[in-house]
Amino acid sequence: MSEKTLFEKIIDREIPADIVYEDNYCIAINDINPQAPIHILLIPKKPIQKLSDCTNEDKNLLAHLFLKIGDITKKLNINDAFRININNGEKAGQEVFHLHIHILAGRKFNWPPG
Ligand code: AMP
Repeated sequence: MSEKTLFEKIIDREIPADIVYEDNYCIAINDINPQAPIHILLIPKKPIQKLSDCTNEDKNLLAHLFLKIGDITKKLNINDAFRININNGEKAGQEVFHLHIHILAGRKFNWPPG
């Protein structure tokens, strides 16, 4: 059996985290090293390594995650201005190989992101 990802350990409560939302399919936690006043990681419980590994089988899960972004940002009153980011692969800055969506808010974001 392959070793659990960091986020699986958080999901299984083996590592503590600041959980802001959880349901049967996903968990949302505050990032330990926030890059904005609000920096949440939305993580599917299914340990998909990266977005480009998703298949047709994950269609409902991906829809669920994207709808949850709306719910979470509305609840936090940041739905007028937030940025989402997915790092896909090492060269794109991915460090944890368990799919996650960064939700950032509370400051001005520049474009292009760099
Ligand atoms: P990425 O570079 O897209 O793979 O993002 C990984 C994110 O996980 C980074 O923003 C880290 O700050 C964050 N992170 C790493 N360890 C933890 C942890 N124990 N709890 C919460 N966030 C973490």
